[in-house]
Amino acid sequence: MRFRKLLFDADGTLWDFNASARLSIGNGFKRRGYDYPDTVYKRYEVINKGLWERYERGEMPRDRVLVERFELLFAELGIQEDAAAFENEFRQGLEENPIWMEGAEDLLRRLRPDYEIYIVTNGVGDTQRRRIALTGLDRYVDGIFISDEIGAQKPQGAFFDYVLSHIGPCETQELLLIGDSLSADILGANHAGIPACWFNPERLPLSGSAHPDYEIHALPDLMTVLTAPAS
Ligand SMILES: [Mg+2]
Repeated sequence: MRFRKLLFDADGTLWDFNASARLSIGNGFKRRGYDYPDTVYKRYEVINKGLWERYERGEMPRDRVLVERFELLFAELGIQEDAAAFENEFRQGLEENPIWMEGAEDLLRRLRPDYEIYIVTNGVGDTQRRRIALTGLDRYVDGIFISDEIGAQKPQGAFFDYVLSHIGPCETQELLLIGDSLSADILGANHAGIPACWFNPERLPLSGSAHPDYEIHALPDLMTVLTAPAS
């Protein structure tokens, strides 16, 4: 077997962040007595994306993005609500409602007998541990690495050095990292010399300086990568 140890990102890879966001906003709307048709979340996605693009261009601070996305959404819908309070509730809801990515739990179950499985995630320790417990992700893994607890984050070399020194002796070529972020997961793996599989369900174009060795659009397709002959 070519790969022996699999390093999985969590958010956006094993957990469906969009599904959690959709649910959390819906809960906020319902608590306040508003309808929550599909169009609301679609508008939120457009507004949210636009604001994060402005943030990335340096036009807006992060804290402003978080609140303004709901100010703009409420303004469009003609709703009078406290956007900052809604944002707080929203983010708490995200923490409390992790949702498996389609096919993720089934995939881990299939891989479990044949591979060592590790989680490599950027995030707050308490939050990630709680979400791991809520989804039962810990049942399927041999180790969990959280940036907050390590003191370094993907794509930093220090994060991967720590992981490599804690998963037992192996060649980096026996590892495969699976993640949705080019800039955190794939770039970090590239620098650490670890083969990388880009999970790209939205079929985004390749951008930046990351070089995925493999690309999949659905999690079950990882089986094809793992069983393919070494090139
Ligand atoms: Mg991710």
